[in-house]
Amino acid sequence: MQNPLSRFIPQLVGEFPKQFMELFNQVSESTDKENEEIKRLLWEAYDFGVSHHEGQKRKSGEPYFNHCVEVAKLLADWKMDHITVIGGLLHDSVEDTGASLADIREKFGEDITNLVDGVTKLGGIKFTSRAEKQAGNFMKMLLSVAKDLRVIIIKFADRLHNMQTIEHLPRMKQHRIAVETRDVFVPLAHRLGMANVKAHLEDLVFKTLKPKEYKDLDSKIKSSRKERQKYIKLLSDPLQKELNKLDITAQIYGRVKSHASIYGKMVKRDKKFDEIYDHLAVRIVVEKIEDCYLALGIIHNQFTPVQERFKDFIASPKSNAYQSIHTTIVGPNGKLMEIQIRTHEMEATAEIGVAAHWQYKEGSSKLKGVDTHIKWLRELVDILQSESSDPKEFMNLLKIDLFRDEIFVFTPNGDLQQLPIDATPIDFAFHVHTEIGLHCLGAKVNQRIVPLNTQLQNGDVIEIITSKTQKPSYGWLNFVVTTKARTHIKKVMVKQQFEESVHLGKEILTKTLRRMKMKNMYDEIEGSHKKFGFNNSEQLLEVIGKGDITIREILQKINPEQEEVLDQDTDEAEKSFFDFARSKTKGIKLQGISNLMVTFGKCCNPIPGDEMIGFVTRGRGITVHKSDCKSLPLLNKESDRLIPVEWDVDRKDLFNVRIKIIGEDRKGLLNDLTDCINKFDLNIISVDSKVKDAHARVYFIIQINNVRQLDRLFRKLTKVAGVDFIERTGHSIQ
Ligand code: MN
Repeated sequence: MQNPLSRFIPQLVGEFPKQFMELFNQVSESTDKENEEIKRLLWEAYDFGVSHHEGQKRKSGEPYFNHCVEVAKLLADWKMDHITVIGGLLHDSVEDTGASLADIREKFGEDITNLVDGVTKLGGIKFTSRAEKQAGNFMKMLLSVAKDLRVIIIKFADRLHNMQTIEHLPRMKQHRIAVETRDVFVPLAHRLGMANVKAHLEDLVFKTLKPKEYKDLDSKIKSSRKERQKYIKLLSDPLQKELNKLDITAQIYGRVKSHASIYGKMVKRDKKFDEIYDHLAVRIVVEKIEDCYLALGIIHNQFTPVQERFKDFIASPKSNAYQSIHTTIVGPNGKLMEIQIRTHEMEATAEIGVAAHWQYKEGSSKLKGVDTHIKWLRELVDILQSESSDPKEFMNLLKIDLFRDEIFVFTPNGDLQQLPIDATPIDFAFHVHTEIGLHCLGAKVNQRIVPLNTQLQNGDVIEIITSKTQKPSYGWLNFVVTTKARTHIKKVMVKQQFEESVHLGKEILTKTLRRMKMKNMYDEIEGSHKKFGFNNSEQLLEVIGKGDITIREILQKINPEQEEVLDQDTDEAEKSFFDFARSKTKGIKLQGISNLMVTFGKCCNPIPGDEMIGFVTRGRGITVHKSDCKSLPLLNKESDRLIPVEWDVDRKDLFNVRIKIIGEDRKGLLNDLTDCINKFDLNIISVDSKVKDAHARVYFIIQINNVRQLDRLFRKLTKVAGVDFIERTGHSIQ
């Protein structure tokens, strides 16, 4: 009869639950003393798990904790150390129960806590897209979040058990999990050299996604079992006899290849099961590497080998550290048969791959020749080769921190994107699609609006707000890190700059000629581009627009005899406006530093609310422009001289703004406009009006707080009778 005390303190009475003892017996260490300590810790974890998962049921109806024990058993079966086994036992305790990481740390220490934390974090990553690249990224994400290879191993045990019990889930969920397993866990298992786990998972995926085909194949494989065993005996008996003669201890067994791989062959070759000759393989497991080659000799002596199918993965292991000799021979009855020869150690490696190497004292030399161009594997291999062979040390060394220079972020749909560290929403936008980058207006990170220069963090969810009319800004170049973003922004800037300069050049030319009453000269000037060394008239217009050449200079070159006709007098109001604007240097913050000696651009006059950019002039400090100012230099030459600036103003601070109003020249227009401005309680610095052909042009210079106030004023002014056009203007050429 069970001791009643065993329910509460089994360690005192020596009666543990059967489930616990099964698990413990799988985890064994060399000495009794170690075993006692392991038993104590394992029991504590078991007890902790039982009580925290109490009352929870899986979809199958069994207690939830059974899942945790099964995961731990798989880990023990893979010969993982007891720390990892305990990690498996507790892997769901933070996610699914009231337990906290602090509870676990207090009871079980840092190492186990980190494992549980890693597995919990991995649970938060959801895989959604089927694209191959996405799967690859997702895999890297797993690795980068995990930091410790043991976390991945626990995750594999968890996934394997979930796949084994998947039939209890709703069909939709089954499908999602199976697809994720197929696209992420199977290839990752392959890369980590976990051949057996990979085969298991593949079969379970096959069973879930193609239940009918799986069942058909399974029954065929089962019904041919007797025949198969007979055949294996025919092959292995004589081999065993020869091996015994040489005193080689060997296990020979035949095995059916995985359902998934046979089905794959049937589909690929369009054959029925009976027609697949290589669904069977024989494996010979021996003690030492020398024995592998001796066994190979015996085999080739007795059966004819198929030369081209011989592969020696012992001499040159696969990149995932897989080692074995593969040979195909013409077996009894003329059937082709693949035979794999390996040591016990290699057999274990095929179970959990690279993670297996800690178990073997001489585990360093045999990794030579591993395909070293796979960076992460090379790093791991370096560590494995250079460090001590103490299993506990080795487990610590398996902790990996790869992909340090990359971050992984998500689209709102959950698609994973890989970016360099320090990437910003603009980099993300261009990464997703060039068009999204070109029209990026704003960004939300984890549902919150952020500045476009925010540095993204691992796991962020980023939503880009776009607008058809939005265009890249100069300032972006100061913080983007990806080449793609930089290249596209520059390209647009150069083009835009060129177009704007041409447009402005045309305007300057037209208006200047009109003022000079020389409109008829337009075509002649436009056509004179060759005289100035340009290939086309657009290039000439561009330099006019940029102010590199004046109309007067052009006219003089075309017609050197002509007297100076250009109207030289400058607009007095304009002059005083710019003097005033330039004297106001406060209110600008450059990269967090305020009260800098800055001047405003002569060409534009930014007010709070305007996007601005600073331009480092040669010898004159920083000039601040509106970021869409036409007179900013061409980027390809000068982009390194642009720096971001921000407003640093009080709400009460006033700024001068110059507005131009064109309207019908009627009695009282000026009065109505002034009234309207006065209603906003704004100070008018100067008014200037000109009348021409029954049209009035009125220029106001007004003191204003910010762009919003100006917009409100504009809306009101538009409603004044007779007003045709209003524009904010700063440019000296009208
Ligand atoms: Mn789980």
